[in-house]
Amino acid sequence: MKYGKSETSCNSCPPKIMRLFIAKVKNLSENEIVFHMNDLQFSPNEIAQLEDFVSRYESHEPVSKILNRREFWNSEFFVNKDVLDPRPETEIIVEQTLKIFAKDQAFEFLDIGTGSGCILLSIAQEFPKSFGVGIDISEKAVAVALKNKSDLRVKNVEIQNVSWNDFVPQKKFDLIVSNPPYIKNADIWALDDNVKNFDPHIALDGGKDGLVSYDQLSKLLGNWLKPSGKILLEVGFDQHDAVKNIFESKGFVLKNTFRDLQQIPRILEFILKNPS
Ligand code: GLN
Repeated sequence: MKYGKSETSCNSCPPKIMRLFIAKVKNLSENEIVFHMNDLQFSPNEIAQLEDFVSRYESHEPVSKILNRREFWNSEFFVNKDVLDPRPETEIIVEQTLKIFAKDQAFEFLDIGTGSGCILLSIAQEFPKSFGVGIDISEKAVAVALKNKSDLRVKNVEIQNVSWNDFVPQKKFDLIVSNPPYIKNADIWALDDNVKNFDPHIALDGGKDGLVSYDQLSKLLGNWLKPSGKILLEVGFDQHDAVKNIFESKGFVLKNTFRDLQQIPRILEFILKNPS
C-alpha cells in the first residue's frame, strides 16, 4: 500500500504521531519518513502493526508506551506497561544532584523504586566515578531497568529486585533518591486515562493517605545515609508540608524545596538533623 492521505488518514491521530508510528514500523527516522513519504510501501504485516498502534492511541495509551521509548534527561529509555512513564519534573532530581556533587566526584547513591531506571542511570551517566544501586519490588520493572542499563551501556550501577523493607544495604550512601508511589488510592480512579490505565498501579499507589511510602522510608533512611548524606525525594502536588513533617519527626531537616515548571513544590532535599 502507498502512504497517501486516503489510506492512512486517521481522525484522532495527528500527522506528527502518525509519522512516529510509521517510522517505528519501517525502522526509519522521522526525517527519513518525511523525505520518502510519497514512495513508502507497506506490507500487510506493517499495516496490521500500524492499525494496532492507532487503536492503542485511540484508547489513550501514551505514545511513549506504544513506541516503547521515552526521553528523560539526556537519554532515551525503553518503557512498557511495567514501569511508570518518566516525567519531566522527576528530572529535577538529576539537576539537583549536579549541584551537590562535582562531575568527577566518587560517591555512592541509592535509587529506591527505580522503575525504568531513568533516575539511576541518568545520575550514573553524569557522574562516571559514582556508583549507584537501584532497587525495585517489581521483578518486571527490574527487567526494564536492566535492559536500559545494558542498552545505555552504563557500568557503574547495580539493580536489585527487592522491596525497600527487605533491602539490606552493604554500605551507607552519600545520596538517596526516590520517586515513590504517592497517589492516594482513592484518587487513582480520577487520574487521566493515560496514567491510570497504562502506568503500573504499584508505582502510583501511596496507600490511603498517599503518604505510606514516606512513612516507611522515613524510618529506614536514617540508617542508610552517611552522616553528610542527602536525600532527594519527589512528592505529590499537595504533599510538601506532610512529607516535611514526617521526615522532620524522624531526625531529618528539610534543606531545600525545588518547584517544578508549574511552581508545585516537587522535590524535597533532606539531611540528617544530628549527623553522628
Ligand atoms: N507523578 C505521577 C502522577 O501524578 C505519580 C508518580 C508517583 O506516584 N510517584 O501521575
